[in-house]
Amino acid sequence: MLIYHLSAECYPVAKVGGLGDVVGALPKYLNQAQQTARVVVPAYNNAFFQKTEYQTVHQGKLRLGPFVFSYSVLYEPTNQLGFELYQIAIPELFDRPNVYSYEDDTERFLAFQIAFLNWLVETNQQPDVLHCHDHHTALIPFMVQHCYNYESLRFTPTIITIHNGQYQGWFGYDKLHYLPAFDLSKIGYLEWNGTINPLASGIKCAWKVTTVSPSYLDEISNKANGLENLLRWERPKSLGILNGIDTELWNPKTDALLEHHYGLRDFKKGKAANKKWLCEQFRLDHEKPLFTFIGRLVGEKGADLFPHMASIALHEFSGQINILILGSGDPEVEQQLSGLQHFYSGHYSAYIGYNEALAHKIYAGADFLLMPSRVEPCGLNQMYALRYGTIPMVRRTGGLRDTVMDVGDGGFGLCYDQTSVSDVVHSIGRAIQLFADTKKFDAVRKEIQQIDHSWNSVAETYISVYQSISKQHL
Ligand code: ADP
Repeated sequence: MLIYHLSAECYPVAKVGGLGDVVGALPKYLNQAQQTARVVVPAYNNAFFQKTEYQTVHQGKLRLGPFVFSYSVLYEPTNQLGFELYQIAIPELFDRPNVYSYEDDTERFLAFQIAFLNWLVETNQQPDVLHCHDHHTALIPFMVQHCYNYESLRFTPTIITIHNGQYQGWFGYDKLHYLPAFDLSKIGYLEWNGTINPLASGIKCAWKVTTVSPSYLDEISNKANGLENLLRWERPKSLGILNGIDTELWNPKTDALLEHHYGLRDFKKGKAANKKWLCEQFRLDHEKPLFTFIGRLVGEKGADLFPHMASIALHEFSGQINILILGSGDPEVEQQLSGLQHFYSGHYSAYIGYNEALAHKIYAGADFLLMPSRVEPCGLNQMYALRYGTIPMVRRTGGLRDTVMDVGDGGFGLCYDQTSVSDVVHSIGRAIQLFADTKKFDAVRKEIQQIDHSWNSVAETYISVYQSISKQHL
């Protein structure tokens, strides 16, 4: 089957969070399972784009209401990522370094979707499945079904994966005319609660809806930033598929970003060496347990709690622990987390920013990874932590619920129910006890490295979903 993945992110082309990791890995594993999976993302002017040599395979024009833009489809011919990568260049809208957070994001991602469909139609392509990811590409199912320009694609099966239902891409009716002409009687497929809601439209129009974990599918039927009723209604065509991780890229034996490699046999030595390196860089004490956090500093991750939580934990367990934070997001939280370094130097440090290499080093060198998320559709960090022998400490929610079981229940992590300072601090107390019980601590660290979260079986599940809709198509 020929499957196109349409996304705003794809590691290593452009990554902000887990969406990038998934779109950079799933297509590779689909290809290994004898499918033809291609990825299409915008051509941002970032480091990857600047160092890559492309072939221009198509050029055309697209219309966004009164505006006309030229676009080019660029193909990366080496297939070094394990799939065919296409990037759509629309210089006026994407010749910028970042993926998101521009005032004209609505126009940018609308133009991207229109350019993609124009390309398919102008080159007479008939893919078997269009797989859309999150709201940035969620208008494609509507457009193929109802826009006159794309009649040749009308019966192409579409699937949408919800990586994060909080963000829906809403825009007002003043921009309705940016969409290519469509049958106006179908306008209801675009709408939710008085605005045009791309994610809602994708959920209504796609042939299948998937979420990135089974628990998240249950949760968003009750709490989905306004889409609860829609998700309940569309439940029969929805399913939760737990993400995998790219175990070729994320392998402590070969990870090029690590200072010291290790495997199951020498993980104690290897992790200790990575921890020592980290502690030296951040002036921490490598003899004490190292608690870490990696991620976006936003309310969903519980990041607003961190400044308070860190101070309480560093007081309550004075001199017994280290905390290291890597993240960026809410400027106020960033400032508070930086400020704490003056009070707790030697026990606490924070790196404010995005740093892929440091993230790998932290997964390898840490003892524990904190994830007190309020919302976690899947969460990849806990799976990377497991693979690198770092014990996850998670709030039971979404994908965290599906992947981490408490050590007290015969599992291998530390779990709690509330995103609250007291729950997190209490779990740090439990972790200190576990760390002190060296035999148990090492047994847990050994066990978690062997848990299989690779994409192989997950890719098979996606293939059966694709097959089910392409059969419907026949
Ligand atoms: P989300 O997509 O909600 O941000 P996920 O757990 O699904 O969360 O994925 C987060 C991904 O982004 C992981 O690969 C994680 O290591 C990475 N990441 C997040 N913040 C940073 C950062 N500041 N520096 C490096 N990597 C980061």
